[in-house]
Amino acid sequence: MRRLLLKILRKVSLKALSLEWKLRHDCPHKFVKKTIAPNVEIVMCRICNRRDGWWCPESPNHCCSYTKDFDQCDYCGQPEERK
Ligand SMILES: [Zn+2]
Ligand SMILES: [Zn+2]
Repeated sequence: MRRLLLKILRKVSLKALSLEWKLRHDCPHKFVKKTIAPNVEIVMCRICNRRDGWWCPESPNHCCSYTKDFDQCDYCGQPEERK
């Protein structure tokens, strides 16, 4: 009985894990601003809780982007390491 239960539980948890992965992977990400410390504002998805860097007031997806310049955000010009 215990053996069977464990077998079933393992199957169910594997299914849950792959479903969780799929849900996170397909997440349309609704990023909101989250303040984790004074002057530390990051973006976090309110659906899957994914954290995605600094909150950007200018960028369309609200994430700072460093594609043009490694030191300054393309949108708001803030450095990546804010001290
Ligand atoms: Zn998400
Ligand atoms: Zn920015």
